[in-house]
Amino acid sequence: MPVLRGTPDASTRPDRPELIDRFGRVATDLRVSLTDRCNLRCTYCMPAEGLDWLPTSEVLSDDELVRLLRVAVTELGVTDVRFTGGEPLLRRGLEDVISATAALSPRPKISMTTNGLSLAKRATTLVEAGLNRVNVSLDTLDRTRFHELTRRDRLHDVFEGMAAARAAGLDPVKINSVLLRGVNEDEAVPLLRYAVEHGYQLRFIEQMPLDPQHGWDRANMVTAAEILASLKTEFELTPEPAARGGAPAERWLVDGGPAVVGVIASVTRPFCAACDRTRLTADGQLRNCLFSQSETDLRAPLRAGATDQEIADLWRATMWAKAAGHGINDVGFSQPDRPMSAIGG
Ligand code: SAM
Repeated sequence: MPVLRGTPDASTRPDRPELIDRFGRVATDLRVSLTDRCNLRCTYCMPAEGLDWLPTSEVLSDDELVRLLRVAVTELGVTDVRFTGGEPLLRRGLEDVISATAALSPRPKISMTTNGLSLAKRATTLVEAGLNRVNVSLDTLDRTRFHELTRRDRLHDVFEGMAAARAAGLDPVKINSVLLRGVNEDEAVPLLRYAVEHGYQLRFIEQMPLDPQHGWDRANMVTAAEILASLKTEFELTPEPAARGGAPAERWLVDGGPAVVGVIASVTRPFCAACDRTRLTADGQLRNCLFSQSETDLRAPLRAGATDQEIADLWRATMWAKAAGHGINDVGFSQPDRPMSAIGG
């Protein structure tokens, strides 16, 4: 299905500055993809040869990006900025983008989702620039399996990256794991044991229909229920009393705590009613949902001299048009054209 572009209709929108939608939600959490490129080739995310990368001229420059971040934070009430990709550590000038974001007022919380490969070298400078939190993606603890799954023999770099992140003061270091049938579905318990032993906070994410090969199969995905059943064979899990808010993960105390484990059940237990996210792709396209079939182009107006006010209004209109839910479980659901790596996971 082609991506729909244009300015969404906001004629019924109340005149309020923040990013409200028709269902009473307010978006305060901005996910920013810094690049669509990655240095891993996880089989469920990217083909071995990579994808057709965005031409450099289409990717927002640092100045363009920081201007949009300023509009988001100072005009639209965004309080949390998460940098992702592709692999955000591949973005030249990442530290500069982070420090410019940290200089905004009110200062947003700044986090990053990364594969961790060069985190060992960069953790300290990233923290000095203003990074507050990090999520590292890690699906297996087995070197051979990691090599097969990511098509790169770099497991050791991920371990070192996580240790460096914690040594640099990032706390908690979160681990994101996707379990795949017949690949690593047997690793729920070892991954949690590893996370607990090292003081990292683990979250399992259900696989979503966002792969470029369009190979996702509901019947074959490892569900949250299966993951929890597997964990309960080894650990006592009790629901965490703290309110979940807009957080995607349902969390459990592990063996009475303080360790916790999260499960993000986007498919089997969607949390769209509490979604507080807005998304910007590396080429300056705004999305109100991971699964949106439409995008609003901010790059063209930005480059044509739009005012901050005009950009803010486009952003507001885009979020006003956000659907009630992602629709994965609806008859007739169709996957967005952009894969996860090009939207920003
Ligand atoms: N390169 C960074 C990283 O590895 O964390 C950021 C981008 S990556 C796309 C972000 C996260 O999305 C990773 O944890 C990855 O496992 C997850 N992911 C990729 N495809 C997915 C899918 N179809 N369903 C659920 N999670 C997915």
